[in-house]
Amino acid sequence: MSRAPNAPASWESQGCAVCRRQWETAERPIFVAENLVDRSKLYRCAVCGALWLMTERAASAVQPEAIRSTYPGVIESAGRHPSRSEAPASDGEVQYWRHSVASTDHYFGLVNGRDFILRGDRWVPYDVYKSGPSWWRLTGEPGADIITQDVLPPDAPRWVPGR
Ligand SMILES: [Zn+2]
Repeated sequence: MSRAPNAPASWESQGCAVCRRQWETAERPIFVAENLVDRSKLYRCAVCGALWLMTERAASAVQPEAIRSTYPGVIESAGRHPSRSEAPASDGEVQYWRHSVASTDHYFGLVNGRDFILRGDRWVPYDVYKSGPSWWRLTGEPGADIITQDVLPPDAPRWVPGR
């Protein structure tokens, strides 16, 4: 697929599925800064790190260089790859998830922004790209639901935060 060099980038080529969806659903990526002079706002996706510039007319993903003059100082902190610690999560809260695939249930825990999967009677860190509760809560996932603790299998250890 080729495009004229100055043609506007297609919607699908900007950011990632998560931040595009956030715009489509009138959520927003993470607010970074506002420029009162040109009435634009700068956002950054927590998942892919894309910078989004929202003007009065539209939102579009921008390169850091393109906003260097309107947003001096934010380039250094924005645009870098997001780290796990920046993932939105409430402190100390444990969220249990059940993911059903082909009538097999897998159980997950989300603690302080980190994903765990239940293997037998142990919670094991789960770090799979575009998978796990921290991802599903942003994108939605068929067959994945938040459950209460008493829905867990009987031999699943209950979470002790901080362990
Ligand atoms: Zn994104």
